[in-house]
Amino acid sequence: MLILPEALIADLVTAEDAFSAIRACFAAMAQGAARNFPVVREALGEGRQYGFKSGLDTAGGQLGVKAGGYFPGNAARGMINHQSSVFLFDPETGRPRAMVGGNLLTALRTAAAAALSIDLLAVPEARVLGIVGAGHQAAFQLRAAARVRRFDRVIGWNRSPARLAGLAAVAADLGLPFEAVPLARMVEAQVIVTITSSPAASLLAAHVAPGTHLACMGTDTAGKQEVAADLVAGASVFTDEVAQSVTIGEAQHAVAAGRLEPADIVPLGAVVTGAHPGRRGAGEITLYDGTGVGLQDLAVAAVAVERARARGQGIEVAV
Ligand code: NAD
Repeated sequence: MLILPEALIADLVTAEDAFSAIRACFAAMAQGAARNFPVVREALGEGRQYGFKSGLDTAGGQLGVKAGGYFPGNAARGMINHQSSVFLFDPETGRPRAMVGGNLLTALRTAAAAALSIDLLAVPEARVLGIVGAGHQAAFQLRAAARVRRFDRVIGWNRSPARLAGLAAVAADLGLPFEAVPLARMVEAQVIVTITSSPAASLLAAHVAPGTHLACMGTDTAGKQEVAADLVAGASVFTDEVAQSVTIGEAQHAVAAGRLEPADIVPLGAVVTGAHPGRRGAGEITLYDGTGVGLQDLAVAAVAVERARARGQGIEVAV
């Protein structure tokens, strides 16, 4: 078994690698060649969440699980709040193949999924990017979004405005002007990424202009919510995995209120394969409900393992 500690991952997997891996993974899911297993996600108290996301990718030859969660006390300890590890197994024998640090991989695969949704669903001429949230994931989201559209500027909102300085620095690094704005000014954006751990909607229908693409990435647990249910119900909704979207994703609230039918939610992989046309008009609001699936974790961990083996990196352990 190969062990790849967290510190090795940055040299092994790029944002471009993650984008390609997630695109292929979502296509395999849409074609029935890969499936996610039911998510286990448990509250540990004091805001801590822990669980398992797993799956089998027959096409890619991957079987495995990501174990980890969200520990909001970590920031005060100088650690990021999300902590996870990915375990890969041989799908034929069940023998362990690799244990891979999952923190950077999670950020890369989550941002890659949002970027894929922007690539496939946002209007081609999108010029203003809005970011709601300024935690650890937000910077990855900004960088990934900027790879798929030629944005002129970035606007951002966060509950604690001081944290937006970090996003402003990333925008500056990308050569993009950045402005901190009230939520009402999100109407200026053609693409909005939401990436908060909020338990109640921040973004309302009045904050979003017709034709906008929303990538809602923060809601990955029952009880979280970033976007008003009527905004979700009025949008064309896409997701990574419908079973997760209606239970732990942003769509959970609109579905529970009887305002959105699960059958109307489209897997993003169907747009990748061409089975669904994606955006149907310039005025349509499209919404990607990114819940985060185990197959995403396996896909990027597999890239890390393949590259590490080719370079002779990592720690081999007999098991
Ligand atoms: P973080 O703790 O670093 O940042 C949290 C963010 O949420 C900050 O911007 C904070 O201001 C904001 N926030 C917290 N409470 C809020 C409230 N009540 N109202 C509005 N904003 C609030 O977290 P992170 O690592 O950046 O992760 C953000 C979210 O994304 C978390 O919910 C995490 O579970 C989720 N996440 C989802 C995926 C996925 O695949 N969909 C992957 C990783 C993380």
